[in-house]
Parts: sequence; structure tokens; C-alpha cells
Amino acid sequence: MRLILTLVALLFALPVQAQDALLLRPERVFDGIDPRPHTGWSVLVRGNRIEAAGPDVRAPADARVIDLPGQTLMPGLIEGHSHLFLHPYNETSWDDQVLHEPLALRTARAVNHARATLMAGFTTVRDLGTEGAGYADAGLRRAINEGIVPGPRMLIASRAIVATGAYGPKGFEPGVEVPLGAEEADGADLVRVVRSQIGAGADLVKLYADYRWGPGEPSRPTFSQAELTEAVEAAHSAGRQVAVHAGTAEGMRRAILAGADTLEHGDAGTPEIFRLMAEHGVALCPTLAATDQITRYRGWDGVEPAPQNVLTKRSAFAAARAAGVEICMGGDVGVYAHGNNALELELMAAQGMPAAEVLIAATSGNAAIFDLTDRGAVRAGLLADLVAVEGDPTADISAVRAVRLVIKDGQIARDERTAAR
Ligand SMILES: [Zn+2]
Repeated sequence: MRLILTLVALLFALPVQAQDALLLRPERVFDGIDPRPHTGWSVLVRGNRIEAAGPDVRAPADARVIDLPGQTLMPGLIEGHSHLFLHPYNETSWDDQVLHEPLALRTARAVNHARATLMAGFTTVRDLGTEGAGYADAGLRRAINEGIVPGPRMLIASRAIVATGAYGPKGFEPGVEVPLGAEEADGADLVRVVRSQIGAGADLVKLYADYRWGPGEPSRPTFSQAELTEAVEAAHSAGRQVAVHAGTAEGMRRAILAGADTLEHGDAGTPEIFRLMAEHGVALCPTLAATDQITRYRGWDGVEPAPQNVLTKRSAFAAARAAGVEICMGGDVGVYAHGNNALELELMAAQGMPAAEVLIAATSGNAAIFDLTDRGAVRAGLLADLVAVEGDPTADISAVRAVRLVIKDGQIARDERTAAR
């Protein structure tokens, strides 16, 4: 007994092990805020934080030094609109995923999707609904946080909320119960469902302000103004943001007036609606990539002029930017392959947004919109979520695909410098 006590006392007497330090020396640093990259900067990581970044950072004696010649070091990218529980619709239609894929299968896929996302340099995702996979996103988030499987930090919307009758799958005998892509709620019950999803672990609330009531119909509003306003109020009072699917002008208008934090899609937004968005400080996740990919699945070969729905999406993006709406980087990935998140960045740049602005949207911009004050920039004190890519993505946005090193929470998650050889 005395020996044990002595050993325990000895253990406590040992000095605390200093956390490992890592000095990164890239060709340049894109810091997430300044559109111009900094040449000659080094970044010192200690534990899970950035300890220093700048031109005069010296390596402490204990630091491991990693040289990244020809590469740009930048903040870990933040995906603003993902569905880790979906896989591309040209593999399996959305209806068939929701109706016929067992939860365990969908979860197994989601584990792979999370890994692919992190390996692509996306260290945070805002996952906007499991689309029928219940609260499995909360389990995945926990598995990632506990280090059981690799993946990005997840902000989750869990089941998401739709008006009764508005969301699919559809086309069954009336009264037959089929799995749905989200939880139905209306009227006063809507507030109860907002609270129950938050209670079950949702980091934010996702509402659908409009949708196609029947197959082949155009989208029309779902929730009333009063319903949206009450739902947003209940979420905000619980400290949760609200993301609203809105493609029609009227759905967008109601969501803006309700106090939504972000709108998703915005296809039929008018200049007046985008002005209202800007006035109310509501950000837009344009999801250019989802429209592009779905249209290709239906046969578009990418030749211009693009089909009308693609042109509509592009002009909405341009109108939102012209009105001064803050642009979130969110592609609706899951409609297309996880790990191909860069597609949205490329399409934003192709529509005239300067590459550096696109990168700011995908880092400090999304961090600010989602109220994530601990990440999104290469700054002392922030989380050490970093990615190094070959080349200069502020000159050519597609350089974000040439990932060489991914660091999440101070740990190396991908090191292509050795893995590829
Ligand atoms: Zn979505």
C-alpha cells in the first residue's frame, strides 16, 4: 500500500509533459482573411492550437519542422451545406436512398463520406439533415469527436423539419406510411419539434420554407409566416441558428422576415428579395454544384448555353452578390460525391467571384456566418485546423484539389508527402 502511494505521489510530482510543437514552413500562407497570400510565413502549432503565425516565427528546440515547398498553407476549409448520409443521385435516386437503404448501410457510407471530406481538406461541415436517417448524424459526430473514425468537425441539423405533406418520397396510396426525408410538423407543434430536435443533439435547425407539393410541380411556400417566425424564435432562444431551404421568392421573403440565419439555394430570388436579405444580414448558400450535377445526371453534357435551371441559378448567384448578400460556401454535397467539395468553389469562381474571395467564403466567411469564433483563419489562438495544397489557390481555385497535408485539431490527418510514395 505504501509503495502504491509513493508511486502515485511520484506520478503527480513529474513535470507536465510539454505539448508537441510543429513548425510548418510553406511557400506561402493564405490566412483566410487577407486576400493576398503571405510569402515567407511560418506557422507554429502547439497542442490543438495555432501558437504563432507570421514572418518571424522561430522553431522552439523541441519542434518538429515540416517544409512545404511550392505549397500554400491555409485554414481548414468549411463546407456550409453537406449531407453526409446521402450519396450521389446518379448512383441511387434520393427516393431509393430514403425508402430502401437500411440505416446501418447509410451509416457505413457516412463513415466513408466523413473520411473523404476530411482528406479533401474540409475540417468542418455544416450537415443540413440526414434525409431520413434519423439522428444518426449525432452518433457519427460523436464517433469523430472520440477519434473512433476520421472526419470533419460536424455541425448537425439532424432530422430537419418540413410542413406536413410537403416533402417526399411521394406517390403512394394516401394513408400509407412511408419513410420521409425529414420530420413533419405544423402550427404550435412546430415549436415542440424544434425543441425536441435540439434536445436530441441538433446544433442548428433546418426548415423547408418551400418545396414541390406534388411531383413535377414548381416549388411553392410551405410554412406560413407565423409558423416560421415562431420556429426561428424557439431555435434562437435555445442558442441555435436556423438554416432555411428556400427557392421561391415568397419562401425566401418569409424566412428572411422570420429571422433565418442562412437561406439555402435561393434560385428564384429577385433583386428586391436579395436586397431584403442583405438588409437583414441573412447569408446565402447558393448550392451551384447541386444544380450543376443534377442537371448533368439528367443528360446535360456541360455544353453552353446551359439549360434554364442552371442559368437561373447563375443569375440568382449574380443578383445576390450585386445586392451585397453575404455568400456562404455550401454546395449541397451528397447530391454529388463527398470529397468533391471543391466543385462548389470552382463554380463560384467560374461565375465571376475572385478566387481569393471564394476562399475567404470557405474559411473565415463561413466561420463568421456559423458563429464559429475558434476557427476559419490562420491566427494565433485559433484551432489548428490547416490544409496545405500544391500551388496557389488564390491564383487558380482548382489548386484546392491538390491536397498535400491536412491537420485537424493539431493532429496530422493526411500526409501525402509520405503516403503517396
Ligand atoms: Zn441540402
